[in-house]
Amino acid sequence: MNIVMMGIQGSGKGTQSKLLSRHLDIPHISVGELFRDHINRGTELGKKAEQYVNKGELVPDHIVIDMVLSALGSPDARAGFVLDGFPRNKVQLTAMEESRPAEYAILLELDEQTALRRLAHRLECPKCHIIYGKNIPPRREGICDVCGSPLVQRDDDQEVDAIKRRMNLFHQESKEIIQYYERKGVLKRIDASLSESEVFQQIIRSLGI
Ligand code: AMP
Repeated sequence: MNIVMMGIQGSGKGTQSKLLSRHLDIPHISVGELFRDHINRGTELGKKAEQYVNKGELVPDHIVIDMVLSALGSPDARAGFVLDGFPRNKVQLTAMEESRPAEYAILLELDEQTALRRLAHRLECPKCHIIYGKNIPPRREGICDVCGSPLVQRDDDQEVDAIKRRMNLFHQESKEIIQYYERKGVLKRIDASLSESEVFQQIIRSLGI
């Protein structure tokens, strides 16, 4: 099953993608996480992407498309994938449609005020990338439940301006993509203001699984 996840920052896209990937036993491919991993490892790709990621701007298409298509083409993604953070514009959409088109596009709908409130409380494990929030706090304050690493606030979450810029970018860039998937009959609109498990149940029902 080829699934694309869409939604503004704070809509629970990362969390729901992970749940879905586990449920269907297909990989979760997060473009943001791929970039953060490259940046942390100091790779050439990471060096090229860093300046854009830290400002909350889109990384140029040729860099992103190569990286994502190679992830989608890997053997473990043969049975499908949950793709988070791609496509974000028409060029990326076309590249994907020509290779591994989405069979479902899940749109997590959430108003910006609620998303901003959620982000203010968001902490991430730098090792396993699990995200903790107000509704899902770690068992020990500031410590990852899984690996015990100290949690950090993501660099790009610290600045409200950068977050707002990314939300605006999302609305501008995703408009055509949403329309495209809607016309194709693969778009599933989900109310992301509900609890994590309620949102997940809606997703499962919308996919008919
Ligand atoms: P995310 O974790 O999805 O919020 O993404 C973090 C950052 O990675 C974004 O602010 C962009 O700089 C970059 N990024 C993620 N996905 C894409 C994409 N599809 N195209 C270009 N840049 C992206």
